[in-house]
Amino acid sequence: MVYENVVTKIYESLKQETGKGRVAQYIPALSKIDPNQYSISVCDLEGGTFSIGDTDKRFTIQSISKVFTLAMASKHLGDKLWDSVGREPSGTSFNSLIQLEQERGIPRNPFINAGALVVTDKLMSLYNKPKKAILEFVRENCGDQDIYYNNEVAKSELEFSYRNVALANFMKSFGTVEHNIETIIDIYCNQCSISMNTLTLAKSFLFLANGGVNPATEQRVVKSRTAKRMNALMLTCGLYNESGDFAYRVGLPGKSGVGGGIVAVLPGKLSIAVWSPELNVNGNSYRGIDTLEQFTTEIGISVF
Ligand code: GLN
Repeated sequence: MVYENVVTKIYESLKQETGKGRVAQYIPALSKIDPNQYSISVCDLEGGTFSIGDTDKRFTIQSISKVFTLAMASKHLGDKLWDSVGREPSGTSFNSLIQLEQERGIPRNPFINAGALVVTDKLMSLYNKPKKAILEFVRENCGDQDIYYNNEVAKSELEFSYRNVALANFMKSFGTVEHNIETIIDIYCNQCSISMNTLTLAKSFLFLANGGVNPATEQRVVKSRTAKRMNALMLTCGLYNESGDFAYRVGLPGKSGVGGGIVAVLPGKLSIAVWSPELNVNGNSYRGIDTLEQFTTEIGISVF
């Protein structure tokens, strides 16, 4: 694969770059993860893949799941979704409560926790078994039936989900969400606990590099217009209050999660996933961002 040399070089140069952040502490099951793990996978639209590092290890995708649930909800609801959630960067951390009151219970975007809880609430109206539907959607997109929820992480997050419960309750007072809060939070914690390695993660995002069509199955996942819009949202909101800096340094639509994963898309060409569990103050993998920055610098291509 053409990117093999570049990715190997980046991996070697950043392999020792640890100790500058901390693994997520607020979900006890995540705080126990070995911080030194590191892997990178690239998939192109011709079917080529290249992976290096701890590629057989799985990690929980956390907020990256927000892209999958958004794709599922957008498919059914189209523009109606935007009555309940905005499309602006929040400039606040992923679990911030502060804007919600000022903005009358409508979250700024679907990639902060409040916005994702709204999307999960919508999926509860659209699917009889939303948990099963989310898992099937992810399995289908990466072509791997062996993708599961990590029950230990889901349970651990559920036990400590005070902030997410607060966000959901607050939105319920405005009527932004309609279902039972406990069930919304249960589905949300489970979607965050989906475990993948960098290869399956990169594969599962290829439809966004391919105008909404899964290149492996040639099945349309979302309309091409939806794919473009989702990429726009990832570029502007995918890394919370670090989205501007990520666009500046990396120049690709991307989405991060507190499990240490980041996945990015180069439309028309490829997807790339990185995993390195130590996070910076914004809850994003700093080595993941450094990796992606070096990648677009080395290949000389970004969306700009
Ligand atoms: N499960 C995490 C939470 O809700 C996801 C946050 C993240 O990945 N940024 O707090």
